[in-house]
Amino acid sequence: MIRNYNFSTYDPDNFSSYSLFKPDSILKVYRIVSVLFLYLFLDVLTPFNTSILSAQTTPTSFISGKFDPAIHPDFVEIIKPHAEKVGMYLQKDAYQAFIEMYKEAKKSGVNLKIISATRTFEDQKRIWENKWNGKVNLSNGKKADQAYPNPKERAQKILEYSSMPGTSRHHWGTDIDLNALNNTWFESGEGAKLYQWMLINASKFGFCRPYTSKDSVRPHGYNEEKWHWSYMPIAGKITSEIKLNFSESDIADFDGCEQAIPLQIVDHYMLGINQSCF
Ligand SMILES: [Zn+2]
Repeated sequence: MIRNYNFSTYDPDNFSSYSLFKPDSILKVYRIVSVLFLYLFLDVLTPFNTSILSAQTTPTSFISGKFDPAIHPDFVEIIKPHAEKVGMYLQKDAYQAFIEMYKEAKKSGVNLKIISATRTFEDQKRIWENKWNGKVNLSNGKKADQAYPNPKERAQKILEYSSMPGTSRHHWGTDIDLNALNNTWFESGEGAKLYQWMLINASKFGFCRPYTSKDSVRPHGYNEEKWHWSYMPIAGKITSEIKLNFSESDIADFDGCEQAIPLQIVDHYMLGINQSCF
């Protein structure tokens, strides 16, 4: 089939009829070329811009969990079967890395399940104050307000397993608790298999265990938590920033917060972690 194309608007013998050579069209071409140059220029600058952004310090309000992960653009909701319940969030990169790790673990018959992820300042304040005021028992079954009337001692007992509000790694959207909040579960059967798999493989996906057993290398901080894992590509940067920019004066607004200074919460707890997680 032969199509009839209409070339009547372009007369090769008359350049003035070729629209590109009309004055207003030259202006259009000039604009298009300018925009193209601008894009090229910005494209060259992009890696520079990205490095500036990644070099920016994390706001103290973010480190302290004072935001809503449900509406934060860097966060995403964890879906089943990765989590035991809905309504938990992680930073997108941390969740993507977890999904890759989850798939790989599944091949070895290991079923990773997130039981806690991002917790806000308010979440942690509720956990802390429930223990502080004796509404929830400590892990030793005692009510903190009755068993430990001395506030420094009371804070120390809660700090065996719970962070002060504003100081938890769970604020950052990089840290997860897996399968069971109980070290003994990880010492036999399914738990031991999962734990061994994580020890061998977690680092390949960027995860590190910050709360190892306390010894001469890790003399301070929370007790061992075999369930807690941290996504280091983001958490490592925040940890370095805490070393430089965070202090006990940033820890406030909850019952018992005045114990942050005498207990050296930043050096002994926030930074009292497994050396390989720095
Ligand atoms: Zn945890």
